[in-house]
Amino acid sequence: MTEPSQNIDTAAVHAGAHSASPYGDLAPPIHLSTTFERAPDGGYPGGHIYSRNHNPNRSALEDALAVLEGGAASAAFASGMAAATAIFQALAPGDHVIIPADCYYGTRRVLEEHFTRWGLSFTAVEMERAEQVRAAMLPATRMIWIETPSNPLLRITDIAEVVGIAAEAGAVTVCDNTLATPVLQRPFELGVDLVLHATTKYLGGHSDVLGGAVVARVEDELFQRIRAMQIAGGAVCSPFDSWLLLRGMRTLPLRMRAHAENAMAVARYLLDASSVTRVHYPGLEDHPGHELARRQMRAFGGMLSFEVAGGAEGAMRAASRLELITRATSFGGVHSMIEHRASIQPGGGIPLGLLRLSVGIEHVDDIIADLRNALG
Ligand SMILES: *Cc1c(COP(=O)(O)O)cnc(C)c1O
Repeated sequence: MTEPSQNIDTAAVHAGAHSASPYGDLAPPIHLSTTFERAPDGGYPGGHIYSRNHNPNRSALEDALAVLEGGAASAAFASGMAAATAIFQALAPGDHVIIPADCYYGTRRVLEEHFTRWGLSFTAVEMERAEQVRAAMLPATRMIWIETPSNPLLRITDIAEVVGIAAEAGAVTVCDNTLATPVLQRPFELGVDLVLHATTKYLGGHSDVLGGAVVARVEDELFQRIRAMQIAGGAVCSPFDSWLLLRGMRTLPLRMRAHAENAMAVARYLLDASSVTRVHYPGLEDHPGHELARRQMRAFGGMLSFEVAGGAEGAMRAASRLELITRATSFGGVHSMIEHRASIQPGGGIPLGLLRLSVGIEHVDDIIADLRNALG
């Protein structure tokens, strides 16, 4: 249930590979058919009925996600937010959820704008402070939502500690593992019940597919409700998107090592850059979550953020001078991307001079040269 039975590098290459093709294809075929033929006796000899329910490419992706994350089962969705929505839909009216203050803004927004109308309530806390989590617990608290490292401030939550608080109250825990991926962080080994992925990011890895997934440590009633919502609601990962995601995941461990190594070097460079006032990266010794991240993660990941002197104007000016690093939202692709977060998430309490950098797998000297040119 915990480690994949193989090393994750090997599992990433082979998980979800089914060689059912009569031609002996090594690369899996894409099954575009929406419907599957019934036998004269009414049975389904191919094991499939209709593509919203099940599709061979989606099943292969779901098997691979469960293997890599060390879970029992997974459900793949059309986006990370479709996956998060299915988790909230599995709760009942009157239930209370605790989320981190530095939560992915889409997650908070879907709770605020939609699920409160359906009778869910939530409290946002600084989840790196256990006493705040304890203080927010209500008799109706059914779920604690963990996101670590957080985005864009790279705060680190003690997963095992929050799992302990939830367990005392019989609440379940979800960990949004999008930033770390199963290569760098293993939430199920720390007792988390569900893992969420925006597969759009590192799992896909090439900024060409939108997807999401819920992985379950055990296939319990909660996961069955999520699975039922996936099938009934139909926000499923398409055959081609499933195929692209599985192809991306083959190189996930290699890419994560390169992202993390480059990010560490870029963070050290930024510390010394004169127009940079602050660097947020858990790999730096002075980061408040550094020791915890060292225990909880295998490396510190490919995301960092930094604050530039001169507020929003200074940050926008620096970003405008970049040539290699692309100005765009989102992260996790092989190419470096930068974003002025406060202008896309206004009112989110993000420092105005903050730039979020998704460090790509280009040669680190080229990434640093581009930054030096823009910041100098
Ligand atoms: C992007 C992201 C999501 C949402 O994923 P989409 O595919 O954009 O819907 C959720 N959580 C985190 C941490 C993300 O970065």
